[in-house]
Amino acid sequence: MDDRLVHIASRIRDVPDFPKPGILFKDITPLLADGTMFRSVVDVMAERVAPHRPTRIVGIESRGFLFGAALATRLGIGLAPVRKPGKLPWRTVRETYSLEYGTDALEIHEDAVAGERCVIIDDLLATGGTASAAARLVTRQQGRVVGFAFLIELGFLEGRSKLGDHPIEALLNY
Ligand code: AMP
Repeated sequence: MDDRLVHIASRIRDVPDFPKPGILFKDITPLLADGTMFRSVVDVMAERVAPHRPTRIVGIESRGFLFGAALATRLGIGLAPVRKPGKLPWRTVRETYSLEYGTDALEIHEDAVAGERCVIIDDLLATGGTASAAARLVTRQQGRVVGFAFLIELGFLEGRSKLGDHPIEALLNY
């Protein structure tokens, strides 16, 4: 494994039973607090994502904004936010997706991605419901999904099976 990834992994804190019993939450705040490691994440993501030649980064609320914004500035391309319902001010489209109990929804501005080569970014891929809803939003608004990037993939949840044939860059796998 790339030495940088070993150091990055050492800055992720496992929090048992958050936000509810049985969930092992991957807390990225120690990583964000370490400037060298935060920069390393952006370095590795940029190396992995650049070959897909994106023209827009699509960041998923809220931790996807942290890495998405840094990556967009590094690559010199724009960022489109995907947000929870009611947060975006202009005309939006919405996609709902299933959670363990019930459903949730995400929105994007109508004009955010049309004609763009999009890489969708979030901090963590679990069941894949969130990222696949973001991909549907992009496709519905005439954007082209050229890849996904995550800091962490929980491989045992098999979220990548929901993301089609697109390239998936995940820095750390658990
Ligand atoms: P999913 O839709 O199941 O792939 O869930 C992904 C979203 O939920 C991401 O935005 C993550 O930030 C969050 N998430 C899910 N599971 C965890 C976890 N174990 N630790 C931290 N964040 C998580």
